[in-house]
Amino acid sequence: MRPPPSTLATERASLLAWFDAVARDLPWRRSRDPYAIWVSEVMLQQTRVDTVLRYFDRFLSRFPDPCALASASEDEVLSMWSGLGYYRRARLLHAGSKHLVAHHGGEVPQDPEARRAMPGVGRYTAGAIGSIAFDRPEAIVDGNVARVLSRLRGIDTPLGRADTEARLWAEADALVPGPRPGALNQALMELGATVCAHPTPRCADCPVAGGCVALRTGRTAELPVPKPRRAPRPVDVVAVVARQGRGVWMVRGQDALFGGLWGVPLDEGKGRAAAERALISAGLRGTLERRAQARLEHVLTHRRMDVRVFVAADAHPMGEGARWVDPDAPGDIGLSALTRKILAAAGPSGTASPPR
Ligand code: SF4
Repeated sequence: MRPPPSTLATERASLLAWFDAVARDLPWRRSRDPYAIWVSEVMLQQTRVDTVLRYFDRFLSRFPDPCALASASEDEVLSMWSGLGYYRRARLLHAGSKHLVAHHGGEVPQDPEARRAMPGVGRYTAGAIGSIAFDRPEAIVDGNVARVLSRLRGIDTPLGRADTEARLWAEADALVPGPRPGALNQALMELGATVCAHPTPRCADCPVAGGCVALRTGRTAELPVPKPRRAPRPVDVVAVVARQGRGVWMVRGQDALFGGLWGVPLDEGKGRAAAERALISAGLRGTLERRAQARLEHVLTHRRMDVRVFVAADAHPMGEGARWVDPDAPGDIGLSALTRKILAAAGPSGTASPPR
């Protein structure tokens, strides 16, 4: 149940006083420029504050406003982002600046709906810009705020579920109207990041401990209730250990999960026909055994793989792209855990010399 208005006002005052006392001095906290706030929020997604500190001023010196960013080439933007990772964020920021130039005269709009129409800007980022730059009572809910509100209000339905998300936003909406909404939102985020932390909160240092349902009912370790994990999808996979001498031919993973890592040819399926397909698609030829030599299970976050391991003897590539690797000395190439399991399951290879 939501506390009465007088309690909400007390919580707001406590959070603001606490934040004023403990807030770290960060460059984006010194600014009310909506563009700078937007850049900082995008940089801070999935990235530590220490890392963002090394990029924020440099990025803003090079692109001081949306017009400067919009007129830069994508290569220039990506080079200023280089090292921050998750480059899709930089592309969306770039697209967002072009949108501002095309539709809002190069300014970040005050209207929340117009902000949410910017590429890459969702409810959270729009709320952060609205509250911090424009002093509007717009709520935000990120992972830290969700943890604080779940414990403070005793929300015991799983995170990620529609009703839980609606409740969290409703609680945040109820708390934010009042003085300094931007500081209040930052106080909630800071509290979640530093005091109401996962897994163990430091309730003795919390400014809103007096009204906290989780603390009063002894459920700080149980709340928030995590998102239920989806059971991994079962999938049949064939793997082909294509041997030549003591070595095995590897190809670069096409799958998003293994992209970039070298591994043996894989394909979905169970039998020899699927193994043949895997071998040919990898650009290899060889004498494929009639039956799978081994079977193993490999579980990833979303997939439970039932892997049948076939061996192809006297294998050789039909073109470029495959790499011959001595499994006992793979050198500098990264082999996935699955590839190592498959090689172990296939057993030792012959002893002839590497291919010429
Ligand atoms: S009292 Fe503890 S659990 Fe409750 S909001 Fe504060 S830090 Fe989190």
